[in-house]
Amino acid sequence: MTGKSAKITQRHLDAASAVLNWYDSHRRHLPWRAGPGQPVDPYRVWLSEVMLQQTTVATVRSAFAEFTRRWPGVADLAAASRDEVMEQWAGLGYYARARNLHACAVAVVNDHGGVFPDTEDELRKLPGVGAYTAAAVAAIAFGRRAVVMDGNIERVAARWQAITTLLPAAKPEIHAEVDALTPDHRAGDFAQAMMDIGATICTPARKSKGRLSQPDCDACPLFETCSGRQGDPALLPLKKPKTPRPDRFGVAVVAEDEAGNILLERRGDKGMLGGMLVFPGSNWADGTPAQSRYPLEDYQAAKRLLEGGEAVTLNGNVEHIFSHFRVILTVIRVKPASGEGWLKVPKNELSGAALPTVMRKVARLAGLEAW
Ligand code: SF4
Repeated sequence: MTGKSAKITQRHLDAASAVLNWYDSHRRHLPWRAGPGQPVDPYRVWLSEVMLQQTTVATVRSAFAEFTRRWPGVADLAAASRDEVMEQWAGLGYYARARNLHACAVAVVNDHGGVFPDTEDELRKLPGVGAYTAAAVAAIAFGRRAVVMDGNIERVAARWQAITTLLPAAKPEIHAEVDALTPDHRAGDFAQAMMDIGATICTPARKSKGRLSQPDCDACPLFETCSGRQGDPALLPLKKPKTPRPDRFGVAVVAEDEAGNILLERRGDKGMLGGMLVFPGSNWADGTPAQSRYPLEDYQAAKRLLEGGEAVTLNGNVEHIFSHFRVILTVIRVKPASGEGWLKVPKNELSGAALPTVMRKVARLAGLEAW
């Protein structure tokens, strides 16, 4: 995001200096971070930043270890097949990231000789690299002065400046403050320090027994300069009320052929779960709970699996929450008369297949895997 910068005041300079001093002794030790004085590997920075979007640090720790063990450098990742990358990504969600991850590695190798470009502008030309990732990699891996703003930094800055404009309209205002706070030197350390403050001290407010949890201002390096502390910082940043998430309903068909193979299909590259393996099933339609046994009329291929086969509708549903809706799936198990035309995965290899989380839940309900 570009925008106007706030006027840099002594308060900004004092705050930035306090944040960097704090970072020198309080930084989180994360597997993708270089220690003080160690060289920074842009591949590890980029990989971790892509993984950390929409995924928790705890989940990313193990996924990052697996990825870097299997593909220690960008050339190794580029040489992998896309299917291998999708399989390794399974369970991390937002699968467009995995497709872009592989495409980006290929572009770095083919177009940049295997070396990541070192400016925000050049980084942004890579597949899947948006404003946030470009700024983070430029600052952390290459020491560029770049304004990095993720959810943690956004919250800390909004509280520090006591910004009361509602999000998302407040983003340019918050960005301007982060810009004014970001030092010319050690911009990467500054960004990581702000992320750490947001993750460990100036944490999101959680409601418990009718009360909001409070940030730990006494432990915060921004204590002296923070304006939000004068009021109730837990209320900030203010957000536009969310519209309720609608429900969608559908059917998933778990079909097992005579040889013990599970029948799957691969979704097209575009759209939700693009490129992932899924069980055959209906479209997911808006509706009501009464429609949860949504017919397969709209999806003849899956419906044909049930014709002439032994089908059982399982008790219970699979529920899964996506960012904009919740899906409720009825699961039917069937021994189909024919498995022609479907991808076949042996039942005992299903756990290694690139199934998204919602489909793993389907497998679990069908008793296929102990996920
Ligand atoms: S002083 Fe408190 S409100 Fe202000 S940035 Fe630090 S933790 Fe957040």
